[in-house]
Amino acid sequence: MLIVWGEKIRRDRRGFCANYCGLCKEPVAFEVTDLYKVSHLYYISLGSGELTATELKCTACGNEMTLQPMPDIPVQPGRDDLESMLADVPPDVQKEWQEQREKDRVARENPEQLSKEDRLDQVAQSFANMENKVASAIAEGVKVDGAMMLGFGAWVLLLLFFIFLGEHLVKLGVISSLMQSTGLDGFGLGMVTMLVSGVAILIWATATYKSRYFKKNVYPQLATSLAPLRPTHDELESVRTMLKSNGLQMGKVNLDKLEAAILERQGR
Ligand SMILES: [Zn+2]
Repeated sequence: MLIVWGEKIRRDRRGFCANYCGLCKEPVAFEVTDLYKVSHLYYISLGSGELTATELKCTACGNEMTLQPMPDIPVQPGRDDLESMLADVPPDVQKEWQEQREKDRVARENPEQLSKEDRLDQVAQSFANMENKVASAIAEGVKVDGAMMLGFGAWVLLLLFFIFLGEHLVKLGVISSLMQSTGLDGFGLGMVTMLVSGVAILIWATATYKSRYFKKNVYPQLATSLAPLRPTHDELESVRTMLKSNGLQMGKVNLDKLEAAILERQGR
């Protein structure tokens, strides 16, 4: 008997809070979602689960960060009242945000005024802003995305092709030499083709998942936050090397792709 038992992640929306967005470069309202790891038996949840992380999503730009463990942020049910959310934030944190905002303003308007260290610091922060989100997405494993749906669609088309036209191919003798050399009949040949193509599509989709994830979820956001700084290749390279040597996911960024995305932002 096959027992289907495992763990899944349940997402509970808790409300909204104020936080400093590293992309918007100001305090904004974030949507707060708690992630619980829940055991399941045949996809029926067992218990209410264990809080593993909290996701914050910027309501202005969609920037996401994952916090582990979740700090004790005051959360409100509605998203509209940023003022009262800010009033809940401790004064020392508010002061930190103000200083960060001023630094970000200089970085945006007069990046040449920044010292060499502050520039590197700004570049590193842009990368660091995304680390938690990327690391948790990678840890959650391969998810179905557009490219996989396309691959599956192509596979179904191939299947339909065999079902409706396979007989004609055999009759027309198009695949007779293949049948002779493999010793399979038309049905067997179809089955083998479907199996091999299915496995090939699955392997391709899994192997290229990470680079698709980075293309869709990392380069556009990272480029938006880096573009005003006009970082040099050396600056990007030194930050990436530092992240990579610390074993962080953001150290795996492809600089050619990132620099292309930054140039695109600057061209606008
Ligand atoms: Zn934002």
